[in-house]
Amino acid sequence: MSLQQSDFSKWYIETIQKADLMDYTPVRGCIAFKPDGYEMWEHIQEEMDRRFKETGHRNAYFPMLIPESFFEKEKDHIEGFSPELPWVTEAAGEKLEERLALRPTSETMIGHLYSIWIKSYRDLPVLINQWANVFRWEKKTLPFIRTSEFLWQEGHTAHVDEDDARQETMQMLNIYKEVVEELLAIPVYDGGKTPSERFAGAVDTYSIEAMMKNGKAVQAGTSHYLGTKFAEAFNIKYLNKENQHQYVHTTSWGTSTRLIGSVIMVHGDEQGLVLPPRIAPTQVVLIPVGPWKKNPGIMEKLDEIYAALKNKGIRVRLDDSDQSPGFKFNECELKGVPVRIELGPRDLENNQALLKARDEGEKQIIQLDEIISAIETELTMMQSRLLEKARLLRYTHSHTNIDTLQQLQQHIASSKDNGSIPGWILAGWCGNNMCEERVKEETKFTSRNIPFNPPITKNSCICCGEEAKHTVWFAHAY
Ligand SMILES: [Zn+2]
Repeated sequence: MSLQQSDFSKWYIETIQKADLMDYTPVRGCIAFKPDGYEMWEHIQEEMDRRFKETGHRNAYFPMLIPESFFEKEKDHIEGFSPELPWVTEAAGEKLEERLALRPTSETMIGHLYSIWIKSYRDLPVLINQWANVFRWEKKTLPFIRTSEFLWQEGHTAHVDEDDARQETMQMLNIYKEVVEELLAIPVYDGGKTPSERFAGAVDTYSIEAMMKNGKAVQAGTSHYLGTKFAEAFNIKYLNKENQHQYVHTTSWGTSTRLIGSVIMVHGDEQGLVLPPRIAPTQVVLIPVGPWKKNPGIMEKLDEIYAALKNKGIRVRLDDSDQSPGFKFNECELKGVPVRIELGPRDLENNQALLKARDEGEKQIIQLDEIISAIETELTMMQSRLLEKARLLRYTHSHTNIDTLQQLQQHIASSKDNGSIPGWILAGWCGNNMCEERVKEETKFTSRNIPFNPPITKNSCICCGEEAKHTVWFAHAY
C-alpha cells in the first residue's frame, strides 16, 4: 500500500514540504508561503479578482484590528468567533483602554463604516471586496487547510432589499463554483448549509464542497445572505425613494488559501504534486538530455522553444543545471510541473523531442516543428483530464444507498476493515438539529450542504426515520 493510501496526512505534509510550497514558523499554526505556494495563490487571486471586477465589485482595504465593543453588537457573531480570537491588549508599553482583536472576518468593522458611508438609495448597492489576512486561533492545524493565520478574500455588499442581496449571494457562489472547477479542476457540490453549520450571524449560508482523494470534504467557499442582522447591529440605514429610512440587506462571501491545500489533496499522487496547468507556477520544463553539452544545437533549439513558449504567455523553465536528467525528472514530478520536454542529440537528429505529461505514464514523441502547438494542446487536455478524474473519484465515493444510522455505521466499519474510503453519503434529514447532532456524535460525519441539484431525493431522515425535509450530503470534513 502506498503512503498516500496508508497515511494520507503524512503523505500530504511530506509532499508540500518536499515540493517547497511552505515552511513552519516558530508561531504555532502560522506558516510561511514559499514562492511556489504563494504563486498558486496569485493565480487563484487573478482569476477571482477578474470575475469580481467583471460583476461590478471593487477592492478596498480595512484595518486588521477590531475594537472589542464591535463584536458585542451582533450576538451570534461574537458567540461564533470569540473562542478563537487573538487579542492585542498593550501597545507602546501601555495597556489599551479597549482591547483589539486580530480580525477573524470584517463584518463588524465594515458594518460600522457602511453606516457612515451609506445615506441614500443612490449609494446602493455597495459592492466591495477585500484581499487580506485573517486570524482564527485553531487548536488543530494543518498547513493551507486550517491555520491560525490565513489569506483570503472577503466580499461585503449592501443592497436595497432582500431580492437584490440574495441575487448577489448566489452570483458569488456561482463564481466560486466556476473558478474552482475551471481553474483548479475540482468539481464541487453547491448548496445551502444547515442552520447549525451557518456562518455566525448569517440568515442563510451557501457553500461549495469538494471531495479530497481520501474521501474527506473541504468547504471550498461560502456565500452568506446576512439579512438586516448586521444593518440593525450597526445601524446601516438609507433613505428610500419615498424618503423613509430603511435597513440595508447585506451579504458576505469568502474563499481562502485552503484552496491550495485542496488542489494538492485532490490531484496529488505518490510521486508528489499534480498541478492543474492553469495554476501551476511552472507549466513546462525543458530538459536537455544525453551528451548535450557537446552538441550546441540542443541548447539552441531549447532556447528557441523557450522563447516561443514565453511569447505565448506560457510559464516555462529551462533546466540546464548540472544535475543529472534523472534528478531533474524527479523534481518535475515532485513539484507537479504539468509538461516536461526532453531533448537529446538523437532526438534532434530525428527532428523530434519527448513530451511527458505529469498525469500520464507514457512519453509522447513530438515533431519539433509542431512542438509549440503540441504543448499548448497538452496543457489544455491535462486541465480537463484532471477535472474528469476528480469527477470520477467523487462519483466512486459518493453513496446514495445508505438510509439509516445503523447502515452508515456498518458502512464506516466495513470501509475501515477493508482499507477503503468511506466517502460521502447522501441522506434524508427531517430538519431537526438533534438528528444532525446525533449523526455527528455517532459517526463523525457532519452535514456538508443541502445540494441544489441532488442526484436523487431522499424520503426519510437517516436518524429518526421520519419524513425527510431535505436531502443532505454528509461526510468527514477537514
Ligand atoms: Zn430526524
